[in-house]
Amino acid sequence: MGEEAIEGGCNCGKVRYTLESPPLAVAVCHCTRCRRQSGSAFSVNLVMKARHVRIEGELSAYDDPETDSGQPVKREFCGSCGSPIRSTPSAQPALVAIKAGTLDDPARFAPGLHLYTCSALPWADIPEALPRFERGPTA
Ligand SMILES: [Zn+2]
Ligand SMILES: [Zn+2]
Repeated sequence: MGEEAIEGGCNCGKVRYTLESPPLAVAVCHCTRCRRQSGSAFSVNLVMKARHVRIEGELSAYDDPETDSGQPVKREFCGSCGSPIRSTPSAQPALVAIKAGTLDDPARFAPGLHLYTCSALPWADIPEALPRFERGPTA
Protein backbone atom coordinates (compact mmCIF):
# COMPACT_ATOMS: atom_id res chain seq x y z
CA MET A 1 0.00 0.00 0.00
CA GLY A 2 2.87 2.36 0.72
CA GLU A 3 0.68 4.14 3.25
CA GLU A 4 1.04 3.98 6.98
CA ALA A 5 -0.74 0.97 8.48
CA ILE A 6 -4.23 1.66 9.81
CA GLU A 7 -4.36 0.21 13.30
CA GLY A 8 -6.43 0.49 16.41
CA GLY A 9 -7.57 -1.31 19.51
CA CYS A 10 -9.45 -1.28 22.77
CA ASN A 11 -8.62 0.60 25.95
CA CYS A 12 -6.95 -2.31 27.77
CA GLY A 13 -4.92 -3.47 24.75
CA LYS A 14 -6.18 -7.07 24.64
CA VAL A 15 -7.89 -6.44 21.30
CA ARG A 16 -5.92 -4.96 18.42
CA TYR A 17 -6.84 -4.65 14.77
CA THR A 18 -5.42 -3.74 11.39
CA LEU A 19 -7.46 -2.35 8.51
CA GLU A 20 -6.08 -3.54 5.21
CA SER A 21 -7.65 -0.75 3.18
CA PRO A 22 -8.89 2.76 3.89
CA PRO A 23 -12.58 2.86 4.85
CA LEU A 24 -15.16 2.84 2.05
CA ALA A 25 -17.02 5.54 3.97
CA VAL A 26 -16.98 7.22 7.36
CA ALA A 27 -20.52 7.46 8.68
CA VAL A 28 -21.77 9.14 11.83
CA CYS A 29 -24.72 7.09 13.10
CA HIS A 30 -27.30 8.78 15.29
CA CYS A 31 -29.44 5.67 15.79
CA THR A 32 -30.58 4.97 19.32
CA ARG A 33 -28.70 1.65 19.52
CA CYS A 34 -25.34 3.08 18.43
CA ARG A 35 -25.90 5.87 20.92
CA ARG A 36 -26.45 3.50 23.82
CA GLN A 37 -23.63 1.17 22.82
CA SER A 38 -21.15 4.02 22.48
CA GLY A 39 -22.38 5.81 25.60
CA SER A 40 -22.17 8.99 23.56
CA ALA A 41 -24.48 11.08 21.37
CA PHE A 42 -23.68 9.05 18.25
CA SER A 43 -21.08 6.67 16.92
CA VAL A 44 -18.55 7.23 14.16
CA ASN A 45 -18.25 4.16 11.97
CA LEU A 46 -15.60 3.20 9.46
CA VAL A 47 -17.43 1.21 6.81
CA MET A 48 -15.12 -1.63 5.77
CA LYS A 49 -15.22 -4.78 3.70
CA ALA A 50 -15.26 -7.51 6.36
CA ARG A 51 -12.32 -9.27 4.73
CA HIS A 52 -10.16 -6.16 5.05
CA VAL A 53 -10.38 -6.19 8.85
CA ARG A 54 -7.86 -8.28 10.78
CA ILE A 55 -8.53 -8.61 14.52
CA GLU A 56 -6.19 -9.98 17.17
CA GLY A 57 -7.54 -10.91 20.58
CA GLU A 58 -10.90 -12.04 21.89
CA LEU A 59 -14.05 -10.13 21.10
CA SER A 60 -17.25 -10.61 23.07
CA ALA A 61 -20.46 -10.27 21.09
CA TYR A 62 -24.03 -9.12 21.57
CA ASP A 63 -26.65 -9.81 18.93
CA ASP A 64 -28.67 -6.61 18.94
CA PRO A 65 -32.19 -7.48 17.79
CA GLU A 66 -33.89 -4.11 18.20
CA THR A 67 -32.06 -1.88 15.79
CA ASP A 68 -33.64 1.16 14.18
CA SER A 69 -33.29 -0.52 10.78
CA GLY A 70 -35.20 -3.59 11.98
CA GLN A 71 -32.26 -5.80 10.98
CA PRO A 72 -30.26 -7.45 13.78
CA VAL A 73 -26.69 -6.26 14.25
CA LYS A 74 -23.89 -8.24 15.87
CA ARG A 75 -22.03 -5.83 18.12
CA GLU A 76 -18.54 -6.90 19.17
CA PHE A 77 -16.52 -5.39 21.97
CA CYS A 78 -13.56 -6.16 24.19
CA GLY A 79 -14.79 -8.45 26.96
CA SER A 80 -12.22 -7.05 29.38
CA CYS A 81 -12.60 -3.29 29.02
CA GLY A 82 -15.83 -2.96 27.02
CA SER A 83 -14.53 -0.83 24.17
CA PRO A 84 -16.87 -1.31 21.17
CA ILE A 85 -14.87 -2.47 18.13
CA ARG A 86 -16.95 -3.91 15.30
CA SER A 87 -20.61 -4.08 14.27
CA THR A 88 -21.84 -6.49 11.60
CA PRO A 89 -25.31 -6.09 10.11
CA SER A 90 -27.02 -9.47 9.60
CA ALA A 91 -28.50 -8.22 6.34
CA GLN A 92 -25.11 -7.37 4.84
CA PRO A 93 -22.32 -9.26 6.66
CA ALA A 94 -19.73 -8.52 3.95
CA LEU A 95 -19.66 -4.92 5.18
CA VAL A 96 -18.79 -4.11 8.77
CA ALA A 97 -18.52 -0.98 10.87
CA ILE A 98 -15.35 -0.39 12.86
CA LYS A 99 -15.75 2.17 15.64
CA ALA A 100 -13.59 5.07 14.53
CA GLY A 101 -12.83 6.23 18.05
CA THR A 102 -10.76 3.10 18.59
CA LEU A 103 -8.21 4.00 15.90
CA ASP A 104 -4.71 4.77 17.11
CA ASP A 105 -5.01 7.91 14.96
CA PRO A 106 -8.71 8.78 15.04
CA ALA A 107 -8.13 12.15 13.36
CA ARG A 108 -7.10 10.42 10.16
CA PHE A 109 -10.59 9.81 8.70
CA ALA A 110 -13.20 12.56 8.93
CA PRO A 111 -16.91 11.72 8.69
CA GLY A 112 -18.41 11.92 5.20
CA LEU A 113 -22.09 11.39 5.95
CA HIS A 114 -24.65 11.24 8.75
CA LEU A 115 -27.16 8.40 9.20
CA TYR A 116 -30.37 8.08 11.24
CA THR A 117 -30.62 11.81 11.68
CA CYS A 118 -34.28 11.17 12.59
CA SER A 119 -32.90 10.12 15.99
CA ALA A 120 -30.19 12.81 16.29
CA LEU A 121 -30.11 14.70 19.57
CA PRO A 122 -31.22 18.33 19.21
CA TRP A 123 -27.81 19.63 20.23
CA ALA A 124 -25.80 17.36 17.91
CA ASP A 125 -24.37 19.61 15.22
CA ILE A 126 -24.43 18.16 11.71
CA PRO A 127 -22.36 20.12 9.18
CA GLU A 128 -24.55 21.51 6.37
CA ALA A 129 -22.07 20.37 3.73
CA LEU A 130 -22.36 16.66 4.53
CA PRO A 131 -24.96 14.29 3.09
CA ARG A 132 -27.50 13.23 5.68
CA PHE A 133 -30.02 10.44 5.73
CA GLU A 134 -33.09 10.25 7.92
CA ARG A 135 -32.47 6.54 8.23
CA GLY A 136 -30.07 4.17 6.43
CA PRO A 137 -28.32 5.31 3.24
CA THR A 138 -30.79 3.48 1.02
CA ALA A 139 -33.93 4.66 2.84
ZN1 LIG B 1 -9.90 -4.16 26.13
ZN1 LIG C 1 -26.41 3.14 14.39
